[in-house]
Amino acid sequence: MVSTITSSQEAIDLEEKFGAHNYHPLPVVLTRGEGVFLWDVEGKRYYDFLSAYSAVNQGHCHPRIINALIEQAKELTLTSRAFYNDKLGVAEKYVCDTFGYDKALFMNSGAEANETAIKLARKWGYTKKGIEDNKAVIVVAHKNFHGRTTTIISASSDPSARKGFGPFMPGFEIIDYDDVVALQKALGNPNVCGLWIEPIQGEAGVYVPKDGYLKAAANLCKQHNVLLMMDEIQTGIARTGKMLASAYEEVRPDLLILGKALSGGVLPISVVLADDDIMLVIKPGEHGSTFGGNPLAAAVVVEALQVVKDENLADNANRLGDIFRNRMKELMKKTKLITLVRGKGLLNAIVVNDSSESETAWNLCLKFAEKGLLAKPTHGNIIRLAPPLVITEEQIHECCDIIESVILA
Ligand code: PLP
Repeated sequence: MVSTITSSQEAIDLEEKFGAHNYHPLPVVLTRGEGVFLWDVEGKRYYDFLSAYSAVNQGHCHPRIINALIEQAKELTLTSRAFYNDKLGVAEKYVCDTFGYDKALFMNSGAEANETAIKLARKWGYTKKGIEDNKAVIVVAHKNFHGRTTTIISASSDPSARKGFGPFMPGFEIIDYDDVVALQKALGNPNVCGLWIEPIQGEAGVYVPKDGYLKAAANLCKQHNVLLMMDEIQTGIARTGKMLASAYEEVRPDLLILGKALSGGVLPISVVLADDDIMLVIKPGEHGSTFGGNPLAAAVVVEALQVVKDENLADNANRLGDIFRNRMKELMKKTKLITLVRGKGLLNAIVVNDSSESETAWNLCLKFAEKGLLAKPTHGNIIRLAPPLVITEEQIHECCDIIESVILA
């Protein structure tokens, strides 16, 4: 029998009983989205300040992206890569032109794109850098978040991501983020094939590295013949006020990893971009995915990226991000509850004056929800605030008013 939902509690009970308990959601049951807004099953409207972890940069159900999805869905959705299709090449050219690379490899989830980048870096290490078989090392940063596969959590330093899931994949060295001296030391190892980092650590709590770190990392990678693997899954596609966060330091990664907003939140689509000397180390049969590069995804990607450009979403994120942080800095002067605001563009976080184990940030998010704004703590006492980039100046002020009224209360 198929159940129909008539109340939030009913939906929560169903998920609790029949779904795995691998998330701890806020008790809000959503049924509709449009632009910056979400509605729950009782009809209450919320500002979305999570944007599905920055997947919905273009706003919920953007009509142009949904239209591209529907039109393509009527023609052809999936062929597998056993055959060519008439949309994939178009999307590959479009993303290569947009980001300035020779080649693109489409996958589905962000984790899969990162796995792809790991394979590319290792194969490049063996075939181009001359690293001895099975000795390749990828250098990663403490507090990274790159996804949930067993290989990716092998590179994680977060106990909740790792505990109980070993044994782990060898071949990763974890160093401090935003530490150029540590980088210099680690990249000197001749077995290092890649440096795999986020330009801003999103999940960790929106850690923005010092100016010059990314540039230094890129230079050190060049100096040591190491590939710079940049995970822009959360920071990319205009979120931080530029199409890519790496662009703030004019850094061009050797492997660029994108996901999330690549589809505007419509489908799981991810991609790895690289030049020929790297991408062509993988030969037919060595890597793939049934759904990766399907025609439906290809049609959606092109429209989703074109929307970002046509609506100047990077500029909007940049301008409104400044306004948002200024408002939060003003708020900090009036309360001791918030100790820090940090971020770039519309990827921001406030740090709550409490230990990371306490419930304060969670309770604040419950209060925000009561007042019509949805956000969620990341790592205990840090609240990430990241609305869709289509938000207007007036709306940003209204949301700052909500946040302010809750915090001051
Ligand atoms: N990399 C980064 C930087 C992310 O923020 C995320 C998701 O939050 C991922 C990778 C994993 O993406 P997915 O959940 O699509 O596998």
